[in-house]
Amino acid sequence: MTMESPLDTARSQLRSAVEKLSLSESMWNTLSTPRRILEVAVPLRRDTGVVEMYKGYRVQYSTTRGPSKGGIRFHPDIDLDETVALAMLMTWKCALVNLPYGGAKGGVAVDPRGLSARENERLTRRYTSEILPIIGPERDIPAPDVGTDEKNMAWMMDTYSVNAGFSVPGVVTGKPIVLGGSLGRTTATGDGVAISVREALIDRGIDIKGATIAIQGFGKVGYWTAVAVEAMGMRVVAVSDVSGGVKDFGSIADLHDHIASGGEIANYGKGEQISNEELLHLDVDVLVPAALADAITSKSALGIKARIVVEGANAPTTPEGDRIMHDNGITVVPDILANSGGVIVSYFEWVQDKQNYFWSADQIKENLESMMMRAFAEVRQLVKEKNVSWRDAAMMIGVGRVAEAHKLRGLYP
Ligand code: GLU
Repeated sequence: MTMESPLDTARSQLRSAVEKLSLSESMWNTLSTPRRILEVAVPLRRDTGVVEMYKGYRVQYSTTRGPSKGGIRFHPDIDLDETVALAMLMTWKCALVNLPYGGAKGGVAVDPRGLSARENERLTRRYTSEILPIIGPERDIPAPDVGTDEKNMAWMMDTYSVNAGFSVPGVVTGKPIVLGGSLGRTTATGDGVAISVREALIDRGIDIKGATIAIQGFGKVGYWTAVAVEAMGMRVVAVSDVSGGVKDFGSIADLHDHIASGGEIANYGKGEQISNEELLHLDVDVLVPAALADAITSKSALGIKARIVVEGANAPTTPEGDRIMHDNGITVVPDILANSGGVIVSYFEWVQDKQNYFWSADQIKENLESMMMRAFAEVRQLVKEKNVSWRDAAMMIGVGRVAEAHKLRGLYP
């Protein structure tokens, strides 16, 4: 394990919160241990007839405050340690924004870009059937994450329902609307990141109108963040994807059309091409890492000129990267707060599925805004009271709630 693996990062953030909250060593043992880990083999019959084997995981890190909750990632590099780290983050995230959930994460070590639509469907269904005994609307509720979307959720919901013998929409969130999905779920993470950008700008006394933003990543999170911050009057000056970055380009909508028709940022042909590294170091008001883990490290943190960093991705910053940004006076809005909009609207979707009663787009928007604003107010207050970073404050609230729930439930037997 390298010194800066996502699991090391997650554990070191937890350590810091446990110390700041003066929790006992017993509580550290309780909080630092994932509760249930399932590793499965996922056989896939390719369209050619050849059978390949992939590794799949589902980690239920905590169920103390409710059923576990978290996305399914399809990415060639995922492994058990990273899945544990991401499930741990989901636990603190759900507690921070006060959702009645524990935390989970799952995934398959596969590159979905190399799969045909039928192969993706077969892989999703087989993976679902392998983890079926431990998921369910009262147990553990998957959702989209990197490399999965509403199509995968529809197949998961169908596979689970066929086995149950009746429709169970509440087993996953992030479904298509016609299957019991929620209005506003597609844009939710980006909408929440934009709220975080706005609040951080206000906090630093920077004018929202015309504030400059650079976004690393142009997927589900990066793209919808770009749309939402522009709607608030900010200016997205650069974006990137795995192929590279571009600055001073025309419009987000035009770039999105280019990507939707099979292009990538490197062959966009408009604006000025830059590298991912150059994007991180642009002189902007806000930098939004919205791609994968480990974007901001001891190395890349040194050149960051942004006043504010808002973590759209999960675990984009290593502890050393965090320390450097802190020393340089950069406000970092941590992942568990900044990208919580996704799981908040997932919660709304689950509640609507339970009630069989669906809310309007305005209700979703208002409720998302109010839940995020409440979490922001709590974090901000703790930052001032204890003179800690936004990350430490957010972790203290999330971890503190889980610890309190553990104490109140007691230990069985
Ligand atoms: N994958 C998203 C996250 O990391 C959403 C999880 C969910 O909606 O359950 O927060």
